[in-house]
Amino acid sequence: MPKTLSLFCMVCFAFLNCKEKPSSSLEEPPVLTKQLTNKTLIDLSHEYSKETVYWVTAKEFELDTVFAGDTDKGFYYSANNFATAEHGGTHIDAPIHFSKTGQTVEQIPLDNLVGSAIKIDVSHNAKNNPDYLITVADLTQWETQSGHQIPEGSIVLLQTGFAKYYPNKEKYLGTTERGDHAIALLHFPGLSPEAAQWLVDNRNIKAIGIDTPSIDYGQSQLFKSHVILLSKNIPAFENLTNLDKLPSENFEVIALPMKIKGGTGAPLRIIALLDN
Ligand SMILES: [Zn+2]
Repeated sequence: MPKTLSLFCMVCFAFLNCKEKPSSSLEEPPVLTKQLTNKTLIDLSHEYSKETVYWVTAKEFELDTVFAGDTDKGFYYSANNFATAEHGGTHIDAPIHFSKTGQTVEQIPLDNLVGSAIKIDVSHNAKNNPDYLITVADLTQWETQSGHQIPEGSIVLLQTGFAKYYPNKEKYLGTTERGDHAIALLHFPGLSPEAAQWLVDNRNIKAIGIDTPSIDYGQSQLFKSHVILLSKNIPAFENLTNLDKLPSENFEVIALPMKIKGGTGAPLRIIALLDN
């Protein structure tokens, strides 16, 4: 059974199971809870704060306190307002970001955001080369090592090792400067357009993610990998972290962006589920 389906069944069964039994805190936990206790959850999202790394032309994260303190009615209360660009921190690129007819954030099917995933580790290649471009050979090497093709419907995560520099902008982005002129100063690894095209032509993946600010490398001027992938309604997850804690396959990903109607991107909470 495909992993997505098994997860779905798990949820259905848990729901049915809950309905059959009268609820009591003394009873066994519902099936879903039991199943999840057999999984290790890994957080692949960075926090949103003043430190959050944004594209050099994007508005950075703002958090303003509305109120925080004891009220005259005797209870504590706190609330904030926040503001953010779509493309900053751990976020999703919706297909419309580089494709006029592509899906907006709320139109991305949940099936593209949840399911079996693989990880391709190129950190040894990118270690001393911030302009490293992930090649077709990196993808086929994963297939050789695993003994099979990238499975149908996979979510593909690319580990360059750059998350360890986050949020140091000098090391992670290549510059601390901001504004249009800073775009030329960006240096971080990405997926080569040839490898993006190879994935689209030869494999059937449903989403892609990377632990750098962009699926195209820092020195890209035409953002071809974005165009190639997003034109096929393959969303991209950017600024991921903790990929070093994942195996190369046999895990699942749940990636849920803020559901912004008409959004070209959105803050993303993404986790991985590993079998214990
Ligand atoms: Zn983006």
